[in-house]
Amino acid sequence: MEETLERKTYQVDPSGYYGSFGGAFIPEMLYPNVEELRENYLQIINDPSFQKSYNDLLRDYVGRPTPLYRANRLSEKYNTNIFLKREDLCHTGAHKVNNTIGQILMAQRLGKKRIVAETGAGQHGVATATVCALMNLECIVYMGELDIERQAPNVARMKMLGAEVRPATCGSRTLKDATNEAMRHWINNPVDTHYIIGSVVGPHPYPDMVARFQSIISEEIKWQLKAHTGKENPDYVLACVGGGSNAAGAFYHYLSDEDVKLVAVEAAGQGISSGHSAATTALGKPGVLHGSRTILMQTEDGQVVEPFSISAGLDYPGIGPQHAYLFDSGRGIFLSATDEEAIQAAFELTRLEGIIPALESSHALAVLGRLGATENETVVVNLSGRGDKDMATYMRYID
Ligand SMILES: *Cc1c(COP(=O)(O)O)cnc(C)c1O
Repeated sequence: MEETLERKTYQVDPSGYYGSFGGAFIPEMLYPNVEELRENYLQIINDPSFQKSYNDLLRDYVGRPTPLYRANRLSEKYNTNIFLKREDLCHTGAHKVNNTIGQILMAQRLGKKRIVAETGAGQHGVATATVCALMNLECIVYMGELDIERQAPNVARMKMLGAEVRPATCGSRTLKDATNEAMRHWINNPVDTHYIIGSVVGPHPYPDMVARFQSIISEEIKWQLKAHTGKENPDYVLACVGGGSNAAGAFYHYLSDEDVKLVAVEAAGQGISSGHSAATTALGKPGVLHGSRTILMQTEDGQVVEPFSISAGLDYPGIGPQHAYLFDSGRGIFLSATDEEAIQAAFELTRLEGIIPALESSHALAVLGRLGATENETVVVNLSGRGDKDMATYMRYID
């Protein structure tokens, strides 16, 4: 009884913090927009008619529930029981659409007419352009000029879906510059525009709102694992972490179940100490990034360090504030995998199970051999996306 009362939730507190991480560090000009969202988001999410629209779309449009698949040959290889949560089977090929569906419905309830978003490799841009087409809302996606050159197929997808792709031409012309431009656009259009952030980052309430929309992942894992094994709780839940939204969704309903080990896998790039890495918890320190206090890779004087990973979705210099707290409190186990290890894991899954994973998800698969999981234990890996978008990279390793 007492234990239940004291059970830690690891969820956001009423002032928008996870321990000492989180908050809303925003320019004064942005305050009314963020405040409008903060005042309304919980009431809207908990409204039964919102829930019905959200769940109907997840079922009929996204294709949920996604299967929980027992990977028999992979299990045999690692001498444990491995289940894959198949987010790769979602419409548009990854978990990101769970969030954009929720946020487009939120924007409608708030009476917004236009959507603005930032994108790095274009995956979040595509997921946002998709739901804007679905709901007939204007869509503006900011993307670094360099990324526009590198990610032509996703730029074409966004345009085909009717979005306007605007280049960010400042700085390194990548994701962080696109984020700055998107924020500027939102400041200048506060009344009719909603900003759809693509991960559990940004000022409160974004990290909590995005985690709630992604929490459908662990909600399904619980009943699906029970159907498979008779138990809701695995011994391990594994997920890759860029900003941390797929991990937040896979961990959500297990956060207070301390018997479940939550394993977050970051991208080590060419190696943690190579100078070309995105292993945020290994290399970073507390600071403020994109509106919240979190852990980020930075120089001595606090300048953001340009991250590196072979996978565009993990190429981010920070992590969401909830993950910073899971790391700091010891509730989460943070590991990393290099580019090379991720590529190997991708080929291993493909050859053993006939599933070509996204490069991001391959980072989670890459640590399976390091867990020390035994033959009686159960491991759930969140397979965040499929590998179609990564074929150009995989082809370099096929002769
Ligand atoms: C974007 C992306 C990620 C990383 O984003 P998170 O917010 O950390 O989940 C991981 N996997 C895939 C397939 C992605 O597209």
